[in-house]
Amino acid sequence: MRAVVLREPGRPVAVEDVELDPPKANEVLVRVAAAGVCHSDVRLADGELGDGRWPIVLGHEGAGVVETVGEGVEQLTPGDHVAFSFVPACGTCRFCVAGRPNLCEAAGACALAGVLMDGTSRLHSNGDVLQHGLMTACFAEQTVVAAAGAVKIPSELPLRQAALLGCGVVTGFGAVRNAARVAPGESVCVIGCGGVGLQVIAGARLAGAAPIVAVDRSREKLELARRRGATDAVDASATDVVSAVHELTGGGADHAFEVVGRPDTVRLAWDSVRSGGQATVVGLVPRHVEVSVPGIDFLSDKTLRGTYYGSGDAARELPELAALAVAGDLDLAGVVTHTTDLDGVDGAFDRLRRGEGARTIVIIDPDLAGGAP
Ligand SMILES: [Zn+2]
Ligand SMILES: [Zn+2]
Repeated sequence: MRAVVLREPGRPVAVEDVELDPPKANEVLVRVAAAGVCHSDVRLADGELGDGRWPIVLGHEGAGVVETVGEGVEQLTPGDHVAFSFVPACGTCRFCVAGRPNLCEAAGACALAGVLMDGTSRLHSNGDVLQHGLMTACFAEQTVVAAAGAVKIPSELPLRQAALLGCGVVTGFGAVRNAARVAPGESVCVIGCGGVGLQVIAGARLAGAAPIVAVDRSREKLELARRRGATDAVDASATDVVSAVHELTGGGADHAFEVVGRPDTVRLAWDSVRSGGQATVVGLVPRHVEVSVPGIDFLSDKTLRGTYYGSGDAARELPELAALAVAGDLDLAGVVTHTTDLDGVDGAFDRLRRGEGARTIVIIDPDLAGGAP
């Protein structure tokens, strides 16, 4: 089957013919309909997430239809529509037991090693073992994932929209609901309005936040942000962000979300919140990059917190978010600025490197993916 492979960082990713083994116990084989292109794949492709993570089949945000199920899989049957979760929580480690399955130790270790939950890979190419990108590897016609990583969703939702749920949507909404716990009437500032930032804005709107200040250097993204519920837009290329946010929020936002992954934008988020407020870092800051804030600011009772994968339970939240989309309360397609096929993934990476557009959706099986948008 065809899959997008990263052979080594710095080289373009390319579509190759690779072999996929059948699912083992507690795994399923999914025919992939569509996948979203997330900035984390670019970080991985550029070698910013650590050594040894290649050759690898990329793609960790997608949706498809279950084709076969391995031994012991009871919750899924062939024909089910699923969205991928790249943290198939084990249910038994200390984090899972404590109700923080996004931090599952077993899933985290396997994702880092590029293997499934039994420590092995189902992907090969001419004798080479290929890693499974974030245990999902969905820039491919088919993939084998842990059963807990294929979350059943309503079949009414077109799969090209469902494809966005498993990274950007769950990460953005979870940051608002679970990490920041934004309350109605609280002010929110979102720095970085790409694929995930736009989901943070939609989540803030559903949480009843006001005002919602969108910050970006791209006019196109600021326009998308307004359409998703931002009440104000600040062009960071032409305006002093911190004073603009302080003015729009009457002295600093209750919450700031950093959705870029850079030290300077983390600092902007920190400086944009009021005393007692919280800056939540959603963006992926590369390995070995340090972030700093003035220590005296801790006297102002501010909180700087991280979040990973929505800080919640993706297996529970993905169907809820899918239901919101089916009900018309969440416009999933509103973040899509480009559509392509598997051969267009490398071009989509270049757009992300240049900061162009929000989400690219990769249509892998047009018949399964459903019609536009
Ligand atoms: Zn992602
Ligand atoms: Zn666990």
